[in-house]
Amino acid sequence: MPAALKKLEQLHFDNSFVNSLPADPESENFPRQVFSACYSRVVPTPVSNPQLLACVSEVAELLDLSALSCESELFTQTFSGNHLLPGMDAYASCYGGHQFGHWAGQLGDGRAINLGEVINAKGERWSLQLKGAGPTPYSRNADGLAVLRSSLREFLCSEAMFHLGVPTTRALSLITTGERVDRDILYNGNGAPEPGAVLCRVAPGFIRFGNFQLLASRADLGLLKALLDYTIRTDFPHLGEPSTPVYLAWFEEVCRSTAELMVHWMRVGFVHGVMNTDNMSVLGLTIDYGPYGWLEGYDPGWTPNITDAEMKRYRYGNQPQIASWNLARLADALLPLIESIEPLQQAISSYAATYEKGWRVMMRSKLGLIGEEEGDEPLTHELLMILPLVETDMSIFFRKLADIRSDSDPDQLSSDQLIAPLLDAYYDLGSLDSDYRNRFATWMRSYMLRIREQKISDADRRQQMNAVNPKYVLRNYLAQQAIDKAEAGDSSMIYELLELLRHPYDEQPENEHYAAKRPEWARNRAGCSMLSCSS
Ligand code: AMP
Ligand code: MG
Repeated sequence: MPAALKKLEQLHFDNSFVNSLPADPESENFPRQVFSACYSRVVPTPVSNPQLLACVSEVAELLDLSALSCESELFTQTFSGNHLLPGMDAYASCYGGHQFGHWAGQLGDGRAINLGEVINAKGERWSLQLKGAGPTPYSRNADGLAVLRSSLREFLCSEAMFHLGVPTTRALSLITTGERVDRDILYNGNGAPEPGAVLCRVAPGFIRFGNFQLLASRADLGLLKALLDYTIRTDFPHLGEPSTPVYLAWFEEVCRSTAELMVHWMRVGFVHGVMNTDNMSVLGLTIDYGPYGWLEGYDPGWTPNITDAEMKRYRYGNQPQIASWNLARLADALLPLIESIEPLQQAISSYAATYEKGWRVMMRSKLGLIGEEEGDEPLTHELLMILPLVETDMSIFFRKLADIRSDSDPDQLSSDQLIAPLLDAYYDLGSLDSDYRNRFATWMRSYMLRIREQKISDADRRQQMNAVNPKYVLRNYLAQQAIDKAEAGDSSMIYELLELLRHPYDEQPENEHYAAKRPEWARNRAGCSMLSCSS
């Protein structure tokens, strides 16, 4: 064990959020509107029988915590919410948000409790937050709890995203509480008790667009400025001392990091499911994993969230536009501090430009196109028109595309020969009628002509493509299988998937089955393709 690694009791806390910003003076824990404060102190509710299901040693290491400490009883007691370590100062933060396009007023950490901020040996700040550790003043009429099902989904997916190179909150631990929590998964009156769990998530910070929005909506400009100054000093010190130009530079940076995040989501086929402004991190992190899903068949209109089934506001293909809309709501909140609408509008335009540019670069890299040529855009767009025509597995398609050989002349190949290398990606070969095959073949001929001109070997192109097109993602049914097993007392699949998803771009011949298409039984099963916010 490197000497630098510490025991839990030795963690160094520097709780800048609570030390810099005003607290709710009320210390009782009951639901309420909280004014003139950024947070309410609240302690987690003790649980009867906490059991550690999984922890992530790399995340522990971010905190300078030894892997051994994670196996201790103290670890389980702490991260189930039964114990506060010296230096912890627990609180729930106050924020609002637009939910599904409508202003919802105060929301806040209804079932998240922040424990404190650890400063590690490198001087990095990591905030620790429990999810599902009991009610807070922001719980409204809900219980503040979380079930194993949703906690496990967040645990696995946030780690999977990290290893895919997508900015995200991380997961330290997943602990069952020994208590049952009632949930009505499909909101159809069939509520049932489920095992409760507490997740500990870790991020440089958990400030959301909604933290600023709530203060602006209440015209609490003093506190709005204090929160922004705090955020800039703590998380964006490179921007310099807060001032009006720095506020703008900050917003531009949020626009940029959000654009980059959207490019990543689109690259890997991730659908967040609930892109409300309270679920948008000012650090450009993926945050609040709820009814998220992964594209199986490439379908820009898909969302896993049944709560959004009608409008499909947060469907895969709409995410970049929604991020822009959300940024505009953040801009509204900042307007009183910046007092000029134009530069804010310009920043939002820069979001679109950053996104467009990033998306084009990303798509070229997904396709293995080196350099930029005139025909690249129509080539990309035609593929994106073709992919949804029949159910085509996005992840498998791009991996198979990387295997295309450029040594044969596409004009000498028949449509069937041109489509053959991709057949594994299709869910129903019967759906590939001659119109489809011909259209696909025409595209493939253009694609092959383009890659044949490149001065790069097939092997090198494959390697470059495989570095951006994951082989292994947390397919919706895989998460559900891990849940089914964990609920039956077998947590082995959690570690299996965690390990698999640590190397999402690598060929893992022993794990080929995890890269397979979604099995038919999972097509319409709740938890696999249909999720709700009930968690
Ligand atoms: P979400 O859609 O999960 O981001 O949650 C939206 C809002 O509802 C946030 O303020 C959450 O803290 C709150 N919330 C969600 N589930 C619960 C729960 N079980 N108990 C208390 N608050 C909750
Ligand atoms: Mg949320």
